[in-house]
Amino acid sequence: MNYSESMSKREQRRRAINQRFRRMFLVALLMGLAMGFVFGRCSASSKDRPEPIVEQDQLTSVIPDVTLEPMETPLVEEPAEPERILLGSFRITAYCSCEKCCGEWAKNRPNGIVYGAAGVELKAGVSCASPLPLGTVVEVEGLGEYIVQDRPAQWVIDKYGENQIDIYFDSHEAASAFGLKQLNVYEKGEPTE
Ligand SMILES: [Zn+2]
Repeated sequence: MNYSESMSKREQRRRAINQRFRRMFLVALLMGLAMGFVFGRCSASSKDRPEPIVEQDQLTSVIPDVTLEPMETPLVEEPAEPERILLGSFRITAYCSCEKCCGEWAKNRPNGIVYGAAGVELKAGVSCASPLPLGTVVEVEGLGEYIVQDRPAQWVIDKYGENQIDIYFDSHEAASAFGLKQLNVYEKGEPTE
């Protein structure tokens, strides 16, 4: 009996010690939670307070940006297609490498290669002559893009002005079939070459 009593006392002590530890642990846990909560709130409130002010500032400053965005987005999307600038209404003619079209120049073509004023071999569907700067990429309304690689004769510029483009063709037949047109011309920027 004594032995069992002493066992039960020991057990009671153990339980009491365990309970103390548990209480201490719980208290520590609760304190930790409470500290964490308070600290969290303090830090949260100290963080939260300036933020709404910043957001409000951003909102007030963002509102005009948002209204501007529809205007800006088409400009941002355009790099895929280079910006085109209307140069005006141009007198559009056609020419080939023959003597009728080029006069004296037609007699001076070694190996039959037709070079434009830019020093580049002229190609039908690519090359054109114009008083515009050499290398300018132009879009002739309804016809397509051409690169200024040649110069019209000075007397033609004197007679018809600067707003003219002479499109290069392979044959005199094709050039004469083109005739004379008056079309809007856009500048598409400098070629990358
Ligand atoms: Zn010709």
